[in-house]
Amino acid sequence: MNCYDCRSRGRTNAAIGLYHSCGAGVCADCLRWEAHDHAKHANPGNATPRTTRYLTCPACDAVLTTRQPA
Ligand SMILES: [Zn+2]
Ligand SMILES: [Zn+2]
Repeated sequence: MNCYDCRSRGRTNAAIGLYHSCGAGVCADCLRWEAHDHAKHANPGNATPRTTRYLTCPACDAVLTTRQPA
């Protein structure tokens, strides 16, 4: 699979991830990600706080945050 955003700009880059919401493949240059800290969700059944990744494509990232697409 190739990067959807690069393809729309006439480039071909291999996708390294897939944003689950819109289904767009994203390459390393286009990928937006942030760490989500789940420390607040630690409880007796899940005593270990964990950090997970949250991946988005540039278009969705621009809508979901105030950042502009690259
Ligand atoms: Zn790309
Ligand atoms: Zn998207």
